[in-house]
Amino acid sequence: KMNGVSGCEEKILVLLRLRPLNEKEISANESADWECINDTTILYRNTLREGSTFPSAYTFDRVFRGDCETRQVYEEGAREIALSVVGGINSSIFAYGQTSSGKTYTMVGITEFAVADIFDYAKRHEERAFALKFSAIEIYNEIVRDLLSTDNTPLRLRDDPERGPVLEKLTEETLQDWGHFQELLSFCEAQRQVGETYLNEKSSRSHQIIRLTIESSAREFLGKGNSTTLSASVNFVDLAGSERASQVSSAGVRLKEGCHINRSLLTLSTVIRKLSKGRQGHINYRDSKLTRILQPCLGGNARTAIICTLSPARSHVEQTRNTLLFACCAK
Ligand code: ADP
Ligand code: MG
Repeated sequence: KMNGVSGCEEKILVLLRLRPLNEKEISANESADWECINDTTILYRNTLREGSTFPSAYTFDRVFRGDCETRQVYEEGAREIALSVVGGINSSIFAYGQTSSGKTYTMVGITEFAVADIFDYAKRHEERAFALKFSAIEIYNEIVRDLLSTDNTPLRLRDDPERGPVLEKLTEETLQDWGHFQELLSFCEAQRQVGETYLNEKSSRSHQIIRLTIESSAREFLGKGNSTTLSASVNFVDLAGSERASQVSSAGVRLKEGCHINRSLLTLSTVIRKLSKGRQGHINYRDSKLTRILQPCLGGNARTAIICTLSPARSHVEQTRNTLLFACCAK
């Protein structure tokens, strides 16, 4: 159950997505210094520094250019991992990157495509009865809140010997249809904004997890007490801005006050780094809420994809490099 004994051989899929310059950046005359030169390589090209140590190239399994649509990112990068859930395999899909690099834009689309595919799969496999359960949480300052509840009380995280980490009183809704799913998404969005004046500040500091748990059993055995039930969860994780992962910028300067490190993000980076090296030893899942909650869906037999989102703007080069460093460590 919790930690697959088979270890962590399965590679973490690391994808890069470059966004286009936005209107604000264009009107500020920003230049786009990063360019995807093919499906696997991203290049830094600073026209002011030609001839110095630049340009530099980074290679990954897959990089998506600024003009790629989310559907393509989903189909080529996330679909297989998201759909492993119908076969009883847990999975997690993360968006990692600095604030404004496109994490939410990417995760919203991917969540919708995945849910549509899962509905479609259930429809095409009538020999099994499916139940799709939806839940959503936010982790802010190591406090977990239920985004499907108007009750602001933090959720308690308990270790159940059978079920692993359990969030007590977490709301789970059984998805009826596409309209119901859209309704729940709007509700979550409204909940996130409750009492929050500086939404941008909050969204840069909090993690959001949308979790879909799919249970299915062969119809011929329904009600006969035969346990042929498959159950697994897929997590869509929109992480806090990655600028919260480093206490010290790459220039060695402490980040400005108020930009303190985010424990969950830092622990996740460490966990991912260890998993990617296939390390069998101690993995510090217990050091943060995010990693405790996701533990059954990370490592072991679980499948993981990390989509690293990048801004092409010259003014963001430091953070873009930090994201690339994280991506290199994770692959
Ligand atoms: P983050 O969640 O990382 O802070 P957002 O997803 O909110 O960033 O993206 C910031 C802005 O850039 C939004 O207005 C979003 O619509 C836009 N954006 C992000 N990625 C893309 C993209 N690949 N193509 C077009 N617009 C994008
Ligand atoms: Mg966001």
